[in-house]
Amino acid sequence: MSALSFDELIALIGGRFGKHEIGCPHCGPQRHTAANRRRKVLCIWHSEPGFITYGCARCGIAGYASDDGRAPVSRAVLEKARREAQAFGREHAAKQLAKARWLWRSRRPIAGTIAERYLRKPRGISGPLPSTLGFLPARGDYSPAVIAAFGIPTEPEPGVLAIADTDISGVHITRLKPDGSGKDPHEPAKIMIGKSLGWPIVLAPVNDYTNDVTIFAHTDTDGMHHAAELERRLRARGLSAATAKLPEKSR
Ligand SMILES: [Zn+2]
Repeated sequence: MSALSFDELIALIGGRFGKHEIGCPHCGPQRHTAANRRRKVLCIWHSEPGFITYGCARCGIAGYASDDGRAPVSRAVLEKARREAQAFGREHAAKQLAKARWLWRSRRPIAGTIAERYLRKPRGISGPLPSTLGFLPARGDYSPAVIAAFGIPTEPEPGVLAIADTDISGVHITRLKPDGSGKDPHEPAKIMIGKSLGWPIVLAPVNDYTNDVTIFAHTDTDGMHHAAELERRLRARGLSAATAKLPEKSR
């Protein structure tokens, strides 16, 4: 069964032929921010009369629907549609990853910045801040922000975390007031770019807590699945996942 009916799909694209990138009616409405609700993650292809294929790069719904009166489409057409949907998903993921890594490369060291002030005062974090956190200065219409990397870092020397650009799967950004006294009051204050589900933000070196890992893990409604995936990834790097702290929700 198709997640979206032919009539729904036709309505979404106003009956027009061609390739359309639009907001997803399946995963869009639950998003917290208007920008994410509208994000053009659903691709719809209407290349022949009475037949439409679609795929969402975010929630993964994909399939095809045809008009009742239409003769069944050939396997070759279905196969082509499947490949198009997969390519769209890969392109979308690659764009988001490139954006996340570009933002990460734009960061400054956090020490002495308003990002440090935010973490120390309103958030009450003490102790050294790891290199998985950085500061993004204000730029154009964008507020200054704390940027955190999703991915599994290495510990090149005891007590020091390092994460290579190529090990970053995504970033978490917290936009701040100009003086760092709190979060930016304008929504969205927190933004995630790239893949965060199933990847941790590691905030303390493994050895500090006898094989424990202090992490900030983003999980979604499907939290259990992502927790399992996270454990698998930690184990693959030789880190003990048994004692990893997994908050249920992103904080
Ligand atoms: Zn979707």
